Amino acid sequence: MKPYINVDLLSQSLRRRTVDTVNKKIRLAKISGSKQENDIISPVNCNGFGRIHHFQFNRFDEWPVDPLPMAPAAKYLDITPIQDMTAEVFQLASCNFRCWYCFVPYSLLSPNYNNSEWKSCEELVSMYSNISLSQRPKIIDCSGGHPELAPEWIPWMMEALINQEMASSTFLWSDDNLSTDFMWRYLTDDQLELIASYPGYARVACFKGFDYESFSYNTSASPELYDRQFDLFSRLLDLQIDLYAYVTFTSKPLSNITDKINLFIDRLQSIDPMLPLRTVPIKILPFGVTLTRVSDLFMKEADKWQTIAMRAWVDELQKRFSSQDLSLNISEVRFSG
Ligand code: SF4
Repeated sequence: MKPYINVDLLSQSLRRRTVDTVNKKIRLAKISGSKQENDIISPVNCNGFGRIHHFQFNRFDEWPVDPLPMAPAAKYLDITPIQDMTAEVFQLASCNFRCWYCFVPYSLLSPNYNNSEWKSCEELVSMYSNISLSQRPKIIDCSGGHPELAPEWIPWMMEALINQEMASSTFLWSDDNLSTDFMWRYLTDDQLELIASYPGYARVACFKGFDYESFSYNTSASPELYDRQFDLFSRLLDLQIDLYAYVTFTSKPLSNITDKINLFIDRLQSIDPMLPLRTVPIKILPFGVTLTRVSDLFMKEADKWQTIAMRAWVDELQKRFSSQDLSLNISEVRFSG
């Protein structure tokens, strides 16, 4: 059996190579020329460091809709959410997990002088604002990698958007893999306050599995870190940012899957009774990059189990929530705390 990743050690080492607090720069993945470029539909932009992603509500038959980040973005921008919305995606060149289904090549998850460059957020926003108005997405997605290895990235982006008068026309979205407490360790109170009070921002935190085994199977991290996801999500909720969750359901063959999904929902509801309604199951797909790591057979089996788990999730939500609650716009679901 492969040893688990030492996530805490790797996180510290990656952080040292990913953020320069003196010059306010982060290490950004160069997407052009990478293996990931073959999986991208729209051409890479922003000098090779950005890409346009098309988010869609209804992408798959027989899979729950995914309204993120369109619903919170449309609410902030005061526009009608549409089926297909684009986002300008920038990727931090670091991650402390190695999810087998990651659509980013592992080579872009650990920064070096070939795969990434130091960039300031002023440069990123400037490259973004130089995209012609007709082509420029209204959403910036700070992705990765794990953006929270350099938690300064988010308040620096907010400052740059404000400085360049782009804040009111741009919605800022960021991902979090729920593995590090760096934002509380390394951000100042003023930076935390800015994140909490900035109106055009929301975050999605991803639960990488629905029990200890599926978490470890997906991430290559120790099963013990499954619990940490819930603790970190609670702490994020305390900050009162506009917070959402994804969950990935891929797993090995399982027995008692309904019980496991029910327990997972119990844990979400122990954070907040309404949290399942702000949680979106993400369907894992076989990208070209993914199929360099796993076989077709592996993918088919993972797909079979994610579908079974998703059905158990949908069934259980129907038991726990009224049809009125289930039809709420995700950005209108209120946490009870
Ligand atoms: S946490 Fe995200 S970026 Fe990191 S390996 Fe997993 S899918 Fe990729």
